[in-house]
Amino acid sequence: MKNVIFIAPPSSGKGTQSEKLVEIGYKHISTGDMLREEIAKGSEIGLKINEIITAGHLVDDEIVFRLIKAKLQNNKEPFILDGFPRTLNQAKMLDELFKELNIQNYEVIYLDISLEEALKRALGRLTCSCGASYNMYYENLKPKTNNICDKCGKELMKRTDDNEESFKIRFNTFLENIDPIKEYYKEKNKMHIVDTSMKLDMITEKIKEILK
Ligand code: AMP
Repeated sequence: MKNVIFIAPPSSGKGTQSEKLVEIGYKHISTGDMLREEIAKGSEIGLKINEIITAGHLVDDEIVFRLIKAKLQNNKEPFILDGFPRTLNQAKMLDELFKELNIQNYEVIYLDISLEEALKRALGRLTCSCGASYNMYYENLKPKTNNICDKCGKELMKRTDDNEESFKIRFNTFLENIDPIKEYYKEKNKMHIVDTSMKLDMITEKIKEILK
């Protein structure tokens, strides 16, 4: 199985698609999740990160890269990079790391979505500390009991950056940075674009096809 880099916009469904890949043996490496873990520790750096994320801005390349490097260095499984790289500089840093770790077997997937659809998904999103995620605006994605995780029974949470203002900044920041990254991977013949207006299962099939 090939490794995968998701460079998809916020709320494009990369978390959901990552869950599907985890079911078939992939390791999920999400910089957003790692940063939120750092915040949960309540450290000084965590407080700084919290301010940046809540405002919808990007965290320093160096901080995020350190987290990614630590995860990849000892990893033996096929992996999903979710949320990294988000800048061209990060893509270049990742290239150096891949060289160092002798990783060549990967594809880059962009999940295409409009701001309107992404906003609807973000504002309805509920997540659980066990990693499960739900959406109160979609019948098939609602939890069975209001605000309770189907999988582990814990109370669901809303992310602090899933509010309209912060989301629009996040989405637009993403778009501002993404074209050079797409171009960079296109030149390497690694770039794939998947339309997210299809049914979830169809999207998963498309992704699996790319990673064969
Ligand atoms: P995500 O869970 O991927 O939507 O990430 C949530 C937030 O974490 C982003 O809006 C950024 O503030 C921060 N973040 C995640 N990944 C990165 C990254 N590769 N570079 C900089 N900031 C990041």
